[in-house]
Amino acid sequence: MNLVAATSTPTFSFNYENMWRYNSSGALSDRADSQIESDMEKIENAIARAQHNARNSDSLKPTVDRAIASLPASRQNGARYAVNTNLIHEYAADPARLSLAYFDAGAEQRGGDLLLSAGYSSIFGALSSASELHLSCVVSRISHTGTGVTVTTNKGNFTADAASVTLPLGVLKAGKVVFSPALPSSHQNAINRLGHGTLNKIYLEFPRVAWPESPHLFGYVGDGWWEEWVNLYPVTRRPILLGFNAGALAESSESRPDAQLAELAMRVLRNMFGRSLPNPVRVTATRWKRDPFSLGSYSSWAPGSTPGDRSALVAPISPRLLLAGEACSRDHPATVHGAYSSGLISSHHILKDSL
Ligand SMILES: Cc1cc2nc3c(=O)[nH]c(=O)nc-3n(C[C@H](O)[C@H](O)[C@H](O)COP(=O)(O)OP(=O)(O)OC[C@H]3O[C@@H](n4cnc5c(N)ncnc54)[C@H](O)[C@@H]3O)c2cc1C
Repeated sequence: MNLVAATSTPTFSFNYENMWRYNSSGALSDRADSQIESDMEKIENAIARAQHNARNSDSLKPTVDRAIASLPASRQNGARYAVNTNLIHEYAADPARLSLAYFDAGAEQRGGDLLLSAGYSSIFGALSSASELHLSCVVSRISHTGTGVTVTTNKGNFTADAASVTLPLGVLKAGKVVFSPALPSSHQNAINRLGHGTLNKIYLEFPRVAWPESPHLFGYVGDGWWEEWVNLYPVTRRPILLGFNAGALAESSESRPDAQLAELAMRVLRNMFGRSLPNPVRVTATRWKRDPFSLGSYSSWAPGSTPGDRSALVAPISPRLLLAGEACSRDHPATVHGAYSSGLISSHHILKDSL
């Protein structure tokens, strides 16, 4: 928040409660809507109870499956939607790929939710203004000795007294950047154990707003596809809807071209807002799993991983070489503030220990 204020970055106060839900017959009744909320609460309570006796290797799936199966059949689809949008979208992975014990580990962040309505560029601009930046350099090797670090890229070598490496966990898992000497086994084991899931977005820009203007969020109780939408109209004053898919569904759909993804999304949106919803004039879809510089969206607690793995990642590889980035944040993984604070911590280590 300090950075936002210091850079006068425009914000929009986003309210997750300001949500309208639909299914293929249109808007849900208040009763059906509250039923979904209370069934999600039951599932969350079942998870909290199961966490007491969880082993590190247990996944979330059996508990979630049992909790859904215990509900009357007529409510199970609503419960699956609630699990999809509250858990799978949030943690970017299916319950089978999330640790029962730790999937939600971390600290609470105080304050409400803000969207940066004009994006992050003013913050990045301010943070980078005093630095020498080399962009679009693809790193293939990081070599370090007792006296310094050399980074090999497609645009030549860069040497420095020390380095803080913020490669995404997906890239570290794939071993696409060679460390010389190799990473310590404590770091490599943590990289292997933690999960790196996928949350994808589709932005559809329309010729005009043809849906309720004021809700911040729309939910769609369907078959798993595009069940959560942010209404960007109140945020940007432009007729844009932003839809999400996560987990295995998101990963398997990355091979589809934009037009096909938009067609699937439009089926959902026309069920919600009516046949008269015009075709979008612009479509942008992310494919984070396929992106070679990301290989997934953000880290998660896979079965078998523990908070000790995040601590292992933060430990200096040497006084001159540290990892940083969202996966290194024990309290706020998978977030921008987690990534930022881990960068501060690694820089502090470097300044204190190596120079
Ligand atoms: C769909 C989605 C929604 C999200 N929503 C939120 C949210 O609401 N709130 C929130 O706080 N966070 C959110 N996040 C998470 C947030 O974006 C990440 O946690 C954060 O960006 C991580 O920052 P990072 O610096 O660790 O990694 P990144 O931002 O991934 O930066 C890593 C950089 O390394 C570069 N790189 C990779 N390989 C190489 C190479 N070989 N050579 C050179 N460079 C390389 C990449 O290009 C990238 O620029 C969301 C993420 C996604 C995908």
